[in-house]
Amino acid sequence: MLTIEELKNKSSQYLNDKKSIAIQLSKDILAEPETGYKEFKTNKKIYDVLKSLDLEIVNNLAITGLMTTIHGAKPGPHIAVIGELDGLPVPGHPFSDKDTNAAHACGHHIQIGNMLATLFALNSEEILNNLSGSISFIAVPSEEYVEIEWRNEQRSKGEFEFLGGKQELVKLGIFDDIDISMMTHARGNFSGFGYGGTGNGLVAKFIEFHGKSSHAGGDPHLGINALNAANLSISNIHANRETFYDDHHIRVHPIITLGGSVVNQVPEIVTLETFVRGASLEAIKNANLKVDNCLRAGAMAVGAEVEITTLPGYFPLFHDSNLQEIYKKNLQNTENKSSELDHGGGSTDMGDLAHLMPVIHPYVGGATDASAHTAGFIVEDYELAVVEAGKMMAFTIIDLLYDGASTGKEIISKHTPRLSKSEYLKTMREFSNVEIANYNIG
Ligand SMILES: [Zn+2]
Ligand SMILES: [Zn+2]
Repeated sequence: MLTIEELKNKSSQYLNDKKSIAIQLSKDILAEPETGYKEFKTNKKIYDVLKSLDLEIVNNLAITGLMTTIHGAKPGPHIAVIGELDGLPVPGHPFSDKDTNAAHACGHHIQIGNMLATLFALNSEEILNNLSGSISFIAVPSEEYVEIEWRNEQRSKGEFEFLGGKQELVKLGIFDDIDISMMTHARGNFSGFGYGGTGNGLVAKFIEFHGKSSHAGGDPHLGINALNAANLSISNIHANRETFYDDHHIRVHPIITLGGSVVNQVPEIVTLETFVRGASLEAIKNANLKVDNCLRAGAMAVGAEVEITTLPGYFPLFHDSNLQEIYKKNLQNTENKSSELDHGGGSTDMGDLAHLMPVIHPYVGGATDASAHTAGFIVEDYELAVVEAGKMMAFTIIDLLYDGASTGKEIISKHTPRLSKSEYLKTMREFSNVEIANYNIG
């Protein structure tokens, strides 16, 4: 039997032999970005690589997801390594799709690469003979919470229920027998690895103000200006910002998606989208009530109607501290630079999984000094973001599943999930709401 250090060295060698395939796959995905639940070409690229390795593939999970599983010599915990398939629309990104503007401006292409790197590090008889348990590699659709209107239409048609891919996979039972999940996300303006920290959750809102059109020059007195209702609502939200507690990390950031149709007509329909983000479910619920009041008040002031559609978003992210310790030790035992993160204002449906099982969601640098979701965000160091990141997850899995998986079993036994799957689905569905309020006084 190999010692754990020998096992890690061997896994590193196996990965080195094949790392160019993982890097190339990341670059191929970068070249043809697709947005959530539409990642068909991305799916095919991953499918082809897994097929060439003679692995069994479960395909078409929540439309575009796919997974493969490898097994240790003995039974034990089931660990998921996750990679996200989607990009998001970022016009002007140098690698954006010319038709859809989709771009990997959040670096999800390197997640698929580092997931594959983890697979290369572990998928040999020599390694697996020393491990107890299974490892599933899951490429998940739709992490970026965008194209809300389109997704909501698909949702009404029954194509999927939840806008986030991991959420949909939870509902479909893919995570039912998984004990631990991990993934490594790219980060801009950052070097080395970042571990720990927490992240905001969110609810998403789609708002339609209905007024009454009239000639904007000749008969404005006969109209009801939906844009004025929307403007007032946004001001109302600003007026509430001083009421948000600092440690709730509330973020409300609406955009106007339709501001009117022609300039010489009083705007009849104006639409907004916004997120209400916060550090806890309670904080999000509370801020969401305030935002609803702001929207109603904007409509009320001008006698318009408002339709407020609230959709369940993502749950706040946190990490299992025991699992985190193992990952952190692997960073510290290698030459990788690492730092502990604080609270982040962004959101991910990895937060949803964190409510159900032990999870880590570390970050890796190697991208330009630009904020994610912008045209300047480009991953440059694939050796770090794909190969080293994959290796750190592989080493962590070896720690968990070595010696009869004693460490993995200990982590699972010490972890108390915040929610059961049925409680989680119930909470998600409770966030879903449509309200119509009409303040027209005739
Ligand atoms: Zn993102
Ligand atoms: Zn992302």
